[in-house]
Amino acid sequence: MLAAEAAAALVLEHTPVLPAEEVRLAEAPGRVAAEDVVASRLLPAFPASAVDGYAIRSADGGGRLRVVGESAAGRPFAGQLEGGAAARILTGGVLPEGADSVVMVEDVEESGEHVVVPTGFAAGRNFHAPGADLRPGDRVVSRGQPLGAAELGLVAALGIDRLRVHRRPRVALMSTGDELVEVGQPLGPGQITDSNRWALLAALREAGAEVELLGIAPDRPQPLRELVVAALDRCDVLVTSGGVSVGTHDLVKPLLESLGEVHVGRVKLRPGKPFTFATLPHGKLAFGLPGFPVSSLVTFEVFVRPALRRLQGYARLQRPRLPVRLDYDALASGDRTEYQRVRLRREGPDLVATSTGSQSSSRLMSLAGAHALVRIPPGAEGYPAGSVVEALILELP
Ligand code: AMP
Ligand code: MG
Repeated sequence: MLAAEAAAALVLEHTPVLPAEEVRLAEAPGRVAAEDVVASRLLPAFPASAVDGYAIRSADGGGRLRVVGESAAGRPFAGQLEGGAAARILTGGVLPEGADSVVMVEDVEESGEHVVVPTGFAAGRNFHAPGADLRPGDRVVSRGQPLGAAELGLVAALGIDRLRVHRRPRVALMSTGDELVEVGQPLGPGQITDSNRWALLAALREAGAEVELLGIAPDRPQPLRELVVAALDRCDVLVTSGGVSVGTHDLVKPLLESLGEVHVGRVKLRPGKPFTFATLPHGKLAFGLPGFPVSSLVTFEVFVRPALRRLQGYARLQRPRLPVRLDYDALASGDRTEYQRVRLRREGPDLVATSTGSQSSSRLMSLAGAHALVRIPPGAEGYPAGSVVEALILELP
């Protein structure tokens, strides 16, 4: 049985980065850059007024200047601004040749064809200099970085309309178990609604995957195999829940063994001991998650999410990890690393963790509204209240 950290490292070792593709900007939000984007021109490209007012020569400060024309956004003033003259300028208008400053309209006295401008007016006021934002050679986006709002805005401002990004992983998602019933359908004796598929759908989408929902596979080898084999044609990754513990109806591990190579079959992790990971032909990956709802989502966080991010080319694979102070006594779990679900609150500069209650692997309420997974390393002693431990941050309060 592998240590949790060794299993996580093994998963990433076997996870490739998906090929890059070129997309239009409309398809780019949230994708990960496959190459650096470097500015090839100045931004702004010309001196652009930051306000509505008058473009002047600062040497004319204190004077009564003749208004000789206008520079509006997209309609520059044609010609040179001579001494003793001003040009009306609007926000975004090009600073005319010869001018070196803009006086805000609020700071002048307008009278007919003339304006009186304040004395002691410095050069360089109220306009954005060429290259103030970007100069040729400046890096706008680094490879491995997700394309967020500011990045895409800069890319567009530079006139770039296509970007090389990594493909999103296509994930086939399936639940296994004879006890499972499709959501919304009536339950017979001993049956439960398949909830893992919807929980995992949300987790997969948040992690950037394109999900194909496969439905529920029964606990019989042949139909399970047929579903999986058909889905693998279309997908990069298979994610199943259930059917990986050691009972007689646990069919996922033998199936993966017959299709590829199982690298992880059991992990010193709580919850999530039966987590299974395999590589399949053509660089595909399979994750067999345990059936218990919390176990499936915790193993998703620890193993699947970082792998999905590697597939998409992210430079940063892990959630942020921060030290937190426990306000409860945490028992350690023998030789297993335990991830306990907590809510956080701020006390001065500290983050303080409160348990979400019973940590049973079937109690999904322990994850609802959790801010973090506190990592309790294996050991006999545990961590009394007041101890500082590392937490994997889902959301800061
Ligand atoms: P298994 O790993 O197949 O032994 O499943 C363990 C337990 O997890 C089952 O007894 C169910 O209570 C629960 N379980 C399995 N699959 C699901 C599912 N898709 N949705 C909700 N609970 C499930
Ligand atoms: Mg089962």
